[in-house]
Amino acid sequence: MASAAFGPSDGATRARLSVLASGSSGNCSAIEFRRRDGSRRLALVDLGLSPRRTQKLLHERGVSLSEVTDAFVTHFDRDHFHAGWAAREHLPFAIHVHERHEVWARRCGLAPKRMSLFDGPFMPMPGVRTSTSEEFHDEMGVIAYRFDISSGASLGYATDLGSVTSDLIDLLHKVSVLAIESNYCPKLQEASPRPAFLKRRIMGGAGHLSNQQAAHATELIEPRDHVVLMHLSRDCNAPGVAQAAHDGRPYALSVPAHGEGTDWIDAPPDRPAVRTPSAELHV
Ligand SMILES: [Zn+2]
Repeated sequence: MASAAFGPSDGATRARLSVLASGSSGNCSAIEFRRRDGSRRLALVDLGLSPRRTQKLLHERGVSLSEVTDAFVTHFDRDHFHAGWAAREHLPFAIHVHERHEVWARRCGLAPKRMSLFDGPFMPMPGVRTSTSEEFHDEMGVIAYRFDISSGASLGYATDLGSVTSDLIDLLHKVSVLAIESNYCPKLQEASPRPAFLKRRIMGGAGHLSNQQAAHATELIEPRDHVVLMHLSRDCNAPGVAQAAHDGRPYALSVPAHGEGTDWIDAPPDRPAVRTPSAELHV
């Protein structure tokens, strides 16, 4: 039982995030971890785009699918896990799946040998610690992720949240870069021609966050540098509306429209690691 050392010498000194696409038509983001020797590792969060589209969008950002070593799945709705990944004979990267999602992953056709299961903090690569929390979303629930690197930079990723919990705030507190969903404007949602059951599902505490809930969560999280608002509803939201809830806040803001993504966003290594390394962390 070896505990993981987690100091600056471990390697990952820079991290940056790019949302490739976000929304009900497909979600995928890339995180690049760069080491002191110049080498890098590329990870994906969610696999909600086809392999071909993912490759195209990575290529536009100067990286390649062949460089991806790890993928982290928040949950197995179709817009977060595309069937094309389960159908691939060979996958050159590990797909990290929370244990509570194993049965859902199988239903999506993902073979057990392709899954790298976890149910607590882990280190997917040297110098990168992954922490998670289980949040409400429909029947299967959703996993929020935090990535801490040894230089002190950190990234948080939280989408498809039914509500804002204290676990979520604790997990993501003071991350450098926060990607969080801001799904709908309540007024536009109420006024939309959507059926009542769908409105209840979205707004009922196990669906999605409104712009105001996302802004409130962000205020409590106190991100250090940059916030990306994700998963904007095509019909019941707009970038300008979502953005307005963050006016005057002390961080940079990116708000990609439904289905769109962002350029690379750096997570600056400007402070020592905020979170205490866990003695139980295994490598
Ligand atoms: Zn979704």
